Amino acid sequence: MNTSEVRKANDPLSIHRRAITVDMHADTVQRIIDEHVDINQQLADGHLDAVRAREGGLDAQFFSIWVEPQLFGGGGPGAMKRADIQIEAVRALAEKHPETWQLATTANDVRKASENGRIAALMGLEGGYAIDERLENVDRYFQMGVRYMSPAWSVSTTWAGSSGDEAGKTRGLNDFGKQVVREMNRLGMMVDVSHVSDKTFWDIVNTSSRPVIATHSGCRAIANVPRNLTDDMIVALAKTGGVVNVIFYPEHIEPGWSEKKKRVDAEISELVQRASDEEPGGVAQKKLARDRVRAREYLKRLPSVSVSRIVDHIDHIVKLVGIDHVGMGSDFDGVQAVPADLKSVADLPKLTEELLRRGYSEQDIDKILGGNMLRVMEETSH
Ligand SMILES: [Zn+2]
Repeated sequence: MNTSEVRKANDPLSIHRRAITVDMHADTVQRIIDEHVDINQQLADGHLDAVRAREGGLDAQFFSIWVEPQLFGGGGPGAMKRADIQIEAVRALAEKHPETWQLATTANDVRKASENGRIAALMGLEGGYAIDERLENVDRYFQMGVRYMSPAWSVSTTWAGSSGDEAGKTRGLNDFGKQVVREMNRLGMMVDVSHVSDKTFWDIVNTSSRPVIATHSGCRAIANVPRNLTDDMIVALAKTGGVVNVIFYPEHIEPGWSEKKKRVDAEISELVQRASDEEPGGVAQKKLARDRVRAREYLKRLPSVSVSRIVDHIDHIVKLVGIDHVGMGSDFDGVQAVPADLKSVADLPKLTEELLRRGYSEQDIDKILGGNMLRVMEETSH
């Protein structure tokens, strides 16, 4: 190689494209179901589709199988059905478009998909509502292809406290919750601490015999919200061999954004309610109508955030526990705001650019973009 070829091979985009890029969390499957979007086409809105994923060099996407308990129940047939139709939608992606998507459950599947120029489609359960307080359902979802689960989303379950409600302030894992974690360990399903209460976090770390992960969280030392991890938590999680996948959502990465958002939410509450009332569709459609107003108003009323703030969280984690315990979990299509220079999956190379600018090596970047999570997936499945 002459020097110009060497330079070319080491530009940010080449480094980004060579890396296996794994996003641990996106809510796009709910768009497929509720908005009937075809994510094999380039979409004019939202954050993720196959065309933009290829442009952004994405190799693997964990799709969140999210059951919103207020709409579908914190358990029971409604919650299970909502999870099942999302799983079915992910499987259908790979069946209908095998040239684009490859269903995956292991690190090896992800590597093969990447070699074959396909995007690996994986699944994680967000909130344990769909297991309906039955241990055998953990195995049921594992058999259906689910490879991680967070015990609770913003609403506590009877067996695990959430960071998002009153019950979670005192609730950790009960005996059943600990059994669930052990069953996940036995099967090889990763345990996700994103959204859980502090007490639940510590119960998980003390119960799990396998690496514990956060699929989409930030550092509380930078953005002080209950949803984020304290330094002590990051150290404890790293000791399990796990990975903190940094979220891109401004509320969880930008200092003060959460307080400003609360003020804006109060200002726009009537607008949001009106959009909901005027929407003739069902509960999921009404939620979409509310979220559309929020997205529009947040863009107008809240400060913009940049990719550099995501890297601040990555830096913080690396300084605390080293390069082997950090990854990324965008929360694309699950949030009403994104960084101004990371508007969709197509912009992912900007993350690599910023990492290079801060002095990370290509080897470090490989670990951050996906290598660390591939390692955890391997360790969990053995
Ligand atoms: Zn979430």
